[in-house]
Amino acid sequence: MGRSAEEEEEMNNNTGSTKTTISISKSWSNVVGKIPVDDEIDLTMEKSETNVKITMADIKDEVEYWSTAVVCYVLGSNPPQVVIDGYFRRIWGGLGIDKVAQLNRRVFMVRFHSIESRNKVVEEGVQMFDRKPMIVKPSKSDMEITKEQMENIPIWVRMVGLDVKYWGRTSLTKIVGLIGKPLRTDAATTKRERLTYARVLVEVKLNQEYPTSIRFENEAGKIVEQKIHYEWKPVMCEKCRNYGHELNECPKFIKEEHEKNEKKQELEIQEK
Ligand SMILES: [Zn+2]
Repeated sequence: MGRSAEEEEEMNNNTGSTKTTISISKSWSNVVGKIPVDDEIDLTMEKSETNVKITMADIKDEVEYWSTAVVCYVLGSNPPQVVIDGYFRRIWGGLGIDKVAQLNRRVFMVRFHSIESRNKVVEEGVQMFDRKPMIVKPSKSDMEITKEQMENIPIWVRMVGLDVKYWGRTSLTKIVGLIGKPLRTDAATTKRERLTYARVLVEVKLNQEYPTSIRFENEAGKIVEQKIHYEWKPVMCEKCRNYGHELNECPKFIKEEHEKNEKKQELEIQEK
């Protein structure tokens, strides 16, 4: 190979004309000469030299804009936007929806006019859509929702009788960390307005174990056992592998049982 593109450009620049005119008039052929047919052009060097770095300042406005939004998707269903749009406006219309936007085939963003409305929706947690669970996540700066991220579900847990001395940020983080990834407390817990139980939003994985009690060692070296109440947890139907209903509520299971019973009755009639 002859000279690299940079060298050629350097040479062109040295011919006297200003950079501006060169950048307008240059084409592939006068920069690199005749494009070789067989040789591959290594672009990795080019890439590292023109690396683009986005900073927090660059995205600040967008992050701010979406801070009053939640990310929603229905487990085991893929409703069209027009349908789910109507649903959102039915359940949350009173809170002041600004817009509903589709992030990808299954994921929607719902933006509210105020942060209070958005927080209220997050505090309500999982909603039901056509008997299937609709997951509600607080939006983050990282708004790309991959398939794996869709398997991380925020759910609310209650810890009844948890001593108030363990309601601080670090204690709760440690204790709830035994279940999943702690995300936030609700307002009543933060403001100590309701002392009967601490309520924490925790990110769990689909199909993980959901312990009914956890144990931790307290400041005096004693083991404390704490019961965990899940306001909702992603149960999977063992028959149809869908989320949101148990086996005895499964339409497929009910239909099959019904057909089995009918056959049985037919046989009994024939035997008589
Ligand atoms: Zn089922």
